[in-house]
Amino acid sequence: MRKPFIAGNWKMNTDSHSAVELASGLAGQLKDVHTVDIAVCPPFVYLSAVAKALNGSNIALGAQDVYFEPNGAYTGEISCAMLKNVCCTYAIIGHSERRHVIGETDELINKKISAAISGGLLPIFCVGELLEEREAGKTEAVVARQVKRGLAGLSSDKVLAVTIAYEPVWAIGTGVTATAEQAQDVHRMIRQLLAAMYDGSVAGEIRIQYGGSAKPANTAELMACADVDGLLVGGASLKVDDFTAMIKTVV
Ligand code: PEP
Repeated sequence: MRKPFIAGNWKMNTDSHSAVELASGLAGQLKDVHTVDIAVCPPFVYLSAVAKALNGSNIALGAQDVYFEPNGAYTGEISCAMLKNVCCTYAIIGHSERRHVIGETDELINKKISAAISGGLLPIFCVGELLEEREAGKTEAVVARQVKRGLAGLSSDKVLAVTIAYEPVWAIGTGVTATAEQAQDVHRMIRQLLAAMYDGSVAGEIRIQYGGSAKPANTAELMACADVDGLLVGGASLKVDDFTAMIKTVV
């Protein structure tokens, strides 16, 4: 049985005050929730402050990215050890904004996933098709390619550390959510692919989150899908009441 996992991606939002306020508000509202894994992913510069605000709570900390090298002359990058050092459990890797705005490739994402697992972080590995790819009937091919290349070379033991987030790019930050049927179709396909790449037991254990304009009003419908095990939430994770309501829908 896969435990639901809901994570908030704060992206490039908040400041030192509002990040702590948001984290403290969530810690208070969600203190009695034990049947859902919860994480928040603030900007790098607020990780330490948010870690303090979450100390003793049931909310884990995640970063929005990580670099694959352990240290050295990589200006602007952040290593796994640095993230562990400020109490991170998770790292989002391959978010569509990094693929399509920054230009990250499947190969780079694969290196990051592999380094994150070796370094003791749990990757939230994002995949998803562009609108034109969906309209051209290429959703399955695009997502399958991203999954295969992103997980290339990972053993069954290691891949169990990964949560996959299916985030159709056309649904991220647009207010347009995939229907439950569209989400379930792709989630089912990903799980079948994992069974082919590994085996049924690995495929049955890996959690697959949906992301893309998830909000309180569509949480129940999305979470009712057999292969939707959680949500990666952007905009709605910046409001204590909305993120709390989404998690409480699943409890
Ligand atoms: C995201 O950033 O991963 C995301 C899904 O954003 P939003 O919920 O705002 O669409």
